[in-house]
Parts: sequence; structure tokens; C-alpha cells
Amino acid sequence: MAEDLDSFDIALKQLEKAAKVMKLDNEALEILREPQQILQVSLPVKMDNGKVKVFKGFRVHYNNARGPTKGGIRFHPDETLSTVKALSAWMTWKTAVVDIPLGGAKGGVICNPKELSVGELERLSRAYVRAFADFIGPEIDVPAPDVYTTPQIMAWMMDEYETIKRVSAPGVITGKPLTLGGSAGRGDATAKGGMYVLKVGAKKKGIDLSKATVAVQGFGNAGQFAMTLVKEHFGSKVVAISDTKGGIYSEKGLNFDEILKHKQKTGSVQGLPGTKNISNEELLELGVDVLIPAAIENQITSKNASKIKAKIVLELANGPTTPEADEILHKNNVLVLPDFLANAGGVTVSYFEWVQNVGGYYWTREEVYEKLDKKMTVAAEAVLSTAEKFKTDPRTGAYVISIQRVADAMKARGWY
Ligand code: NAD
Repeated sequence: MAEDLDSFDIALKQLEKAAKVMKLDNEALEILREPQQILQVSLPVKMDNGKVKVFKGFRVHYNNARGPTKGGIRFHPDETLSTVKALSAWMTWKTAVVDIPLGGAKGGVICNPKELSVGELERLSRAYVRAFADFIGPEIDVPAPDVYTTPQIMAWMMDEYETIKRVSAPGVITGKPLTLGGSAGRGDATAKGGMYVLKVGAKKKGIDLSKATVAVQGFGNAGQFAMTLVKEHFGSKVVAISDTKGGIYSEKGLNFDEILKHKQKTGSVQGLPGTKNISNEELLELGVDVLIPAAIENQITSKNASKIKAKIVLELANGPTTPEADEILHKNNVLVLPDFLANAGGVTVSYFEWVQNVGGYYWTREEVYEKLDKKMTVAAEAVLSTAEKFKTDPRTGAYVISIQRVADAMKARGWY
């Protein structure tokens, strides 16, 4: 049978695998198999040419047993309800694994932001909030940026919400610019959180990160910060990096500033003097200590999993490994630090932003990092020890912790 790459099917497969391992109550599983609420809207937007274009928008609340739901909004031409549902489920497990008092949600608009003017983008963002004004809120559901949505878009959305509700409510949305109540340390939070998780993983595998080699797939927000932070935190050597067009390799190690300059000039990381061009497939199969997928989903599949030579895979991307590949990697003793743990730094600092907004008192960057370190380290240690206890892979271990926390909250509320 062909490998199933439908995002929500994958999310359900992972849930069911963990439910079996932990012998989850059947009623709890039934509740957790479906989102609580899905709202689909059509958004008429006046375009610059005077014509109206109608966009389709979604918001999915997966589970709010542990608190208001939380999750980003994507603006993407290939957005589907299945992806939004899967991402909202993963947000539920993500907030639970780092033990922040929030549930999971996700939103999206089918659009190509690259084809929209700034004015059109603002009108679309405001239309989204008008449609969902009663579905979101600091005590209901708190959106954030995701693929192709930015702090500026969050600012327009917050402004529209406050205009409709006639209140000051900075906690309605996170990932805002600093001037509107954004948190210090939000920019690199995802990769930073990943570093704290990697430290725990390396200790478990007995790897000295100061001597480790690293390959990073993706040169966007997560990938770029991962490349610089792995060097800054541990002194590791990044030998390979890639973007959509392909990758580059250098045994001596890559220089971030040179790559950035080259990419700005040529639009690609490939062709940087002194490095060798490689494909994205070759990057994944390099003989490095740590592989960091930081691009898109379904990169490690049953086709290439047995060729992965890295000792640790730190999943900064969402869903880079299929369930079939997971089994192979686990059998081959590759330590996979799963996405909803490894990239939870972003939502954790988003949570810190919400706490600061609601409390009206703001922290320094150092305070944010210190609190992030504690949250991520405790979570990573718990995931690895739970995986060991249940004799399973870390992803399933992470699921066991998260599902148990959500199930306990549902049980205490009397939902089952
Ligand atoms: P981004 O858009 O800034 O960067 C994505 C990068 O991936 C780009 O460099 C792009 O060229 C590259 N890419 C796209 N397709 C590729 C392919 N087929 N092969 C190799 N590279 C490819 O996005 P981002 O914010 O860095 O997010 C990357 C991943 O991390 C996504 O899965 C996202 O959901 C996840 N993530 C990001 C955050 C965050 O705070 N940025 C938080 C949680 C999870």
C-alpha cells in the first residue's frame, strides 16, 4: 500500500499508536479523534483593481480542556482543511507536552500572499478577524503567525479585534511587533527551544555537541536560527544547509554570513564558492551527528529512512517524518526528537507573550530565555524517560505525556 501522506490521517495514526501503548480509555480516544469545532468562512475582499475576490478561511479548535486554544494562522495557496485539522491536533499535543495551560487550534486562508499588495493583505487580514471575532479572544482562542503570516499581520488583526470589541485586548493574538506587546525573544524562540531539547538528546546519546557535525534542511526562520544557535550554544559545526533549490556541503563547516549574502544576491544557497552543491535528498543522508529538518513535511519517508546516518534527528519542521519512517529510524537506533516537542519553543514564548499581555508586565530577553530553557529541558527529559518506560520511540513517548494530560483535564471536567 502507498504511504499515506494526508496530514490528518498521519495525526490520527500517531494518536492511535500512542493510545494503544498507554491503554487509553476508549471514550477519551473517541473525543480526541475529532476537533471540537470547525468554522469555515468566505471572505470577500476588495482588490486594488476595484473587483471583489472571495477567499476561503478556516479556524479549527481541536481541544480546549486545558485552557484557551492556541495556534497560528497560515496564508497559503495549498491550504486544506485536512492540514489545518492536523496542525490543530499537533498544537494540542504541543501545548500539553510543554505543560502550558492552553489547548490546540489552527487557522488558515487559501491565498497566495506573494500575489497580494500590502493593502489587499491588510484587508484580507481584517476580514479574517471580522469573520472569526466571536471564535477567538484572549480567553477563547489565541492565534499567532505561521507560514506567510507576519508580526505586521498580527498587528492588523489585533487592531481589528479591538475595534470590533471596543476593548484593549493585546492577548487576543501573539507574535505581535514589540511595540504592540510582542515578547522579547520571540524571533528565534523556535530554534532556541530546539537547542535546549537537543542538549538533552545529546546527553542521552553520549554525543559531545562541541565536536558534532550538523546538517540543516531549510534556510528560513527555523533553519537560519538553528544554524547560528547550534554554533553559539555548543560550538557544533554545520556542514550542510539547503533551501527549495538544493543544498551545499563543506567538510570544514559553513559560514552563515557568507551564505546569507550569497542567497540575497543569487536567490539560492547553491553555488557558494568553496562549497559543494548537493540535493535535498543527499543532505538528509549525510554522515553527520545531528540532522535538523527545518523546512516542510514528509521529508523522511519509508524510501529514505534506512539511509539516514545521523544519530539524532531534531525535528524543527512540523511533520518531516512519516509514521513508517519513524519505525525504521527507531529500529536503527536514530534518536528522533519529535516535532511537537522540538519546535515547541515558538508556542512557549507565544504563551509567555500572552501571560505578559494579560498581566500587563513585561520581561527581559534573558528572563524569557531562562523560563524557556526550564520548560523545554523538563519536557525533553520527561519525553525521553516516558519513551524508555513504555519501551517506545520518543514521539510516542511525547504523545503519551500529552494525551494523558489532556485526558486528565477532560476527565476532571466530566467529559467522559
Ligand atoms: P520559512 O518559510 O521561513 O522557511 C522554510 C524554508 O524551507 C525556506 O528556506 C525554504 O526555501 C525551505 N524549503 C521549502 N521547501 C523545501 C524543500 N522541499 N527542501 C528544502 N528546503 C525547502 O518557514 P519556517 O518558519 O522556518 O518554518 C519551517 C518549518 O518549521 C515548518 O514546518 C514550520 O511549520 C516549522 N515551525 C516553525 C516555527 C517558527 O516559529 N518559525 C514554529 C514551529 C514550527
